[in-house]
Amino acid sequence: MLSVDQALAIILDRTPVLAGSNNVGLLMSLGRILAEDIRADIAIPPFDNSAVDGYAVRAEETAGAGPDSPVSLPTAPEIPAGSDLPGPLLPGTAARIMTGAPVPPGADAIVMVEDITRDLPGFVQIRAEARSSDYIRYAGEDVKPEDLVLASGVRIRAAEIGMLATMGRTHVLTVRRPRVGILSTGDEVVDVDEGVPPPPGKIRNSNQWALAAMVREAGAVVEARIHVRDDLFATEKALSAWAFADNPVDVIVSAGGVSVGDHDYVKPALEKLGTMELWKVAMKPGKPLAFGTIGSTLFFGLPGNPVSAMVTFELFVRPALLKLAGFLSEDVARSRVRAELTETIRHVRGRREFVRARTITTGGRYVTSATGAQGSGLLHSMTRANSFMIVPEEAGDLHAGDSVEVMLLT
Ligand code: AMP
Ligand code: MG
Repeated sequence: MLSVDQALAIILDRTPVLAGSNNVGLLMSLGRILAEDIRADIAIPPFDNSAVDGYAVRAEETAGAGPDSPVSLPTAPEIPAGSDLPGPLLPGTAARIMTGAPVPPGADAIVMVEDITRDLPGFVQIRAEARSSDYIRYAGEDVKPEDLVLASGVRIRAAEIGMLATMGRTHVLTVRRPRVGILSTGDEVVDVDEGVPPPPGKIRNSNQWALAAMVREAGAVVEARIHVRDDLFATEKALSAWAFADNPVDVIVSAGGVSVGDHDYVKPALEKLGTMELWKVAMKPGKPLAFGTIGSTLFFGLPGNPVSAMVTFELFVRPALLKLAGFLSEDVARSRVRAELTETIRHVRGRREFVRARTITTGGRYVTSATGAQGSGLLHSMTRANSFMIVPEEAGDLHAGDSVEVMLLT
C-alpha cells in the first residue's frame, strides 16, 4: 500500500498549473494567484512629504535649539495634507505642516510638534535641533517608477491588494480558479431536507455539502453537484458528462462507493472511463482512496465516511486544487508544528493516523488534545477540531507529555 507521502507525490506530479487567466476586479482577486508582473506606474511616495505633524524648517537654522534655548522663527503659511505643491519656504521662517503634506522647496527637515512651543503669535519656538532629512519621506523611497512591485505567481492577500491599489489597478490578471464537480454516492443517502427523520434506513447527504464547502475554502469553484445511486451506469454517466463536456471540469471529487463492497462502482467507472493512478493509502481514517484521470479531468474517489472524506480531501485534494490555481509549492502545505500531548493516544502500528485535535498555544508552546471519539463517521469531533495530530506509521501508543506533530487547519 502507498504511504501518504507517496500518494501525494503521485497526485501533485499529475496535477498541472491551469493555463488561462481571468481579469478580475481588485477585491475579487483576494486569495487568487497573480498572473502578471506588476510594475510601478508612479513613484511611491509620489512626492517628498512630512512623516509627522510639525514645522518644516531649514535644519541649519535650528542650530543650538534645545528645551531651554529655543530658536524662535516667524511662521509661514500652513501646509495641510492634500495641498498643491507649496511655494518655497522663505529663509528664516518655519511652516506648519501636516503628516503626508508636501515638503516645501528649501525646507530640508521637519521638527515634530512635540518639540515646539507657541508662546508668541506669529512665531514658533523650536526646542530641539533638527538634522537635515529628519521626518521627511522622500519621493521614490519605497518604489521607483518601473520597479517590479509584485511578481506573477504571488498569492494575493490584503497587503498585495493594497499595493495593487497604490499602483492604480482596479482590475488584475489572476490564474483561473479550478472548476470542480462533486459526486456523492449511495442508495442509503437522501437529500438533507427529505423528512424528519429521514426515511427508514436512509441518512442525510452530508458529504456533498462538506466537500463543496472545502472546495470553496480552497478558493475553487463548485461547478456542479450530483448524487447517484449505487449503480455503475449512473456513475459512469455522471463522470463522463463532466469529464467529456465541451468545457470539462478540472477536477471531479466523489465520495463513497470506492471500497470493495458489492455495490461500490466508483473504481470500475474510473477504470472504464479513464486511468487509475493509485488506490488505497496507508492512513487512518481514509484507506480507500482512488486517484486518476478521466480525459483532462483529475479524479479523486474519496471514501464515503464523512470524516474520511474530509481528511482525504484535506490531505490530497486541497493541495491539488492549490497547485492547479497556481500556488507556489511552499504555499500549498499547511503549517505543521510540534505540540505537547495532554492525554494517551492509542495507535495500532501500520498506518499514519490523523487524529482530530484542538491545538492551542499557552505559555509560548503548543498543546494538543483529541476532540472526542475518532470513528471515521463521527463528524462531531471534526467540528471541534482545528488541527490533526499526525501519529507516525510506526509509532506505538502516545502518552501525555509526548511531543507530537500537528497539522494546523487554519
Ligand atoms: P461507502 O464508502 O460508500 O461504503 O460509505 C461509507 C459510509 O459512509 C457509509 O456508512 C455511508 O452510509 C456513509 N456515507 C456515504 N456517502 C455519504 C454521504 N454522502 N453523506 C453521509 N454519509 C455518507
Ligand atoms: Mg456507499
